[in-house]
Amino acid sequence: MNYPLVFKAAILTEIGKPLVIDNIEFKGPLLDGQILVKMKYSGICGKQTDEIDGKAPDAFIPHLLGHEGSAEVMDIGSKVTKTKKGDLVVLHWRKGSGIQSETPLYYRNRIRVNSGWVTTFNEYAVVSENRLTVIPQKSDPIVAALFGCVVTTGVGVILNEAKVESDDTVVIYGCGGIGLCAVQAANSKKPKKLIAIDVNEKALDMAKEFGATDIINPGKEDALKRVLEMTEGKGVSKVFVCVGIIKVLEEGVEMTSIPGECYIVGVPPKGAQMKVEAHAVMHERNIIGTLGGGTYPDEAIPEYFKLQNEGKLRLEKLVSYVGDFENINDAIEKMRGDVSGRCVVKF
Ligand SMILES: [Zn+2]
Repeated sequence: MNYPLVFKAAILTEIGKPLVIDNIEFKGPLLDGQILVKMKYSGICGKQTDEIDGKAPDAFIPHLLGHEGSAEVMDIGSKVTKTKKGDLVVLHWRKGSGIQSETPLYYRNRIRVNSGWVTTFNEYAVVSENRLTVIPQKSDPIVAALFGCVVTTGVGVILNEAKVESDDTVVIYGCGGIGLCAVQAANSKKPKKLIAIDVNEKALDMAKEFGATDIINPGKEDALKRVLEMTEGKGVSKVFVCVGIIKVLEEGVEMTSIPGECYIVGVPPKGAQMKVEAHAVMHERNIIGTLGGGTYPDEAIPEYFKLQNEGKLRLEKLVSYVGDFENINDAIEKMRGDVSGRCVVKF
């Protein structure tokens, strides 16, 4: 590879403003554990819209964003053993095996553009060895992009953390990308009940298609009351709250049987407090936080790919929109408006 390399990136330069598409430069060479990849597809997730909107503080402006993508390896730094030139890889934010390298130095008009160990909103990216996983060449690169965050989170919390089984009763509260991955994963275990809850009818239709046995629209009826009616007042054994709204979380906890488990999957506002009945918690109505499904990418990504290839997951159906990278701001806008699925950009 010839350095310096100049390529297009979507840069966060100001909170609340569209990303700026402009050339940045990587002078090279690659350091120990760094890998240069050429992006194929990137997903857009809530973390990035929160960063752009200023909901998550960002001390790194100008900043490169994105943490789920698929890419081709173009060059490797010394000491890299996990991958070679030409490999198809998933880029992810969770740490896997391999070196954690220095973060790359990018410049725009000689001013440093900050970047973490992985970014996906740029034509090329210098990624840390522990933030990518090699996948078979024939894998669908659009679906592969989703394995960087939304799939490992939504599928991981069900199969890896909660270990849902056929004798469980399950509620998935919030059917955005993560919730719909969770519905698919839970359905692969055929629980006694798989109840999907969302205010968006389109999301509920998709949940139904992915195996939800019952759907509830809390905009039209009292979700808690309905779940309790459906379970003879007991609640369900495993609840997954995939929205970060405190009132919904409290409701999710109330739907959980005693004993039972309520998982906090969606991101609540920092500092927000929730009310729970302490007596119920003491009797093992457990409230469990989850970060990225608790998955280890080296194991989870091949395992979930296998489920996809066997038809137990149909993750390709989650892709609701594919746009060009140059129009990433439109895709981000779509992601804000339509949460029942995933918007992806193509490079
Ligand atoms: Zn994410």
